[in-house]
Amino acid sequence: MGKIVSVCNQKGGTGKTTTTVNLSAALAELGKNVLIVDVDPQGNSTSGVGVNKNELKNSVYGVLLNKCQPQEALIENVYPNLDIIPCNINLTGAEIELVGALSRETRLKKAIKSIESKYDYIFIDSPPSLGLLTLNALVASESIIIPIQCEFYALEGVSQLMNTLNLIRDGLNPELAIEGVLLTMADYRTNLTIEVIREIQGYFKEKVYKAIIPRNIRLSEAPSHGKPITMYDSHSLGAQKYRELAQEVIGAKHNNHNMLINNELQEKSVEMGKNKAAETETTG
Ligand code: ATP
Ligand code: MG
Repeated sequence: MGKIVSVCNQKGGTGKTTTTVNLSAALAELGKNVLIVDVDPQGNSTSGVGVNKNELKNSVYGVLLNKCQPQEALIENVYPNLDIIPCNINLTGAEIELVGALSRETRLKKAIKSIESKYDYIFIDSPPSLGLLTLNALVASESIIIPIQCEFYALEGVSQLMNTLNLIRDGLNPELAIEGVLLTMADYRTNLTIEVIREIQGYFKEKVYKAIIPRNIRLSEAPSHGKPITMYDSHSLGAQKYRELAQEVIGAKHNNHNMLINNELQEKSVEMGKNKAAETETTG
């Protein structure tokens, strides 16, 4: 039975798509059968694995509106062990067309159930909003990964996401769990990154993944080549970190996170302290 995980944060640009594509690819590389379901009308996961979003015969749109079967929208082996149910901008219409529809929040869940048994992991890339598409993703999932960008307003909107999770737990999906919180775009040259890591760690405790994704130029280049980072630049730091994340997801052992993050932070702080001291020496 596949594990169904939404990659979700209603804040834009936090690394949802980058995480969906690269975590999926890293797991596929380890021999797991992985499916990506792209429910963001931007279709960035779709193009990110090299599928032309302007030439889709079937897509998540058709699946949600019962115009096609999930099998018909499925594109197999975009990379070894990696399949995708793609989408494009047409999906925007689904949010409006579904408003009056029966069982509108559970359509994706029903669709995924029919193909779930083929996969070890199913990752749903969701849009930066808490509308009906995200709701479908959350109702279909057993857990969520929340990518949070290491920036000043990192926690902005997180309480809103938590409220939404609680509402869904109270009604449509009581079992919905937080799989993990992923810190993304970390830039250790700034004090801010260290502060944000501490803040998120204080808020989500052991749910924070030990793997922290650094700001890495290769990660931002890979989508324009339609390749996951493991294919675009297998030896980059970005590839290495997403592989570490994949190991954690498989192990799902979060117990040591805090300790390890603390160690990492301590090392960085010492390093920064040394730099500061050196600066003072040279300038003063
Ligand atoms: P949206 O909310 O629009 O769907 P998102 O949460 O899916 O955005 P991404 O598209 O994954 O976010 O990332 C936003 C931008 O930042 C993209 O241009 C992506 O290539 C870039 N990016 C993501 N992660 C990194 C990283 N670790 N290092 C450098 N660039 C990154
Ligand atoms: Mg995205």
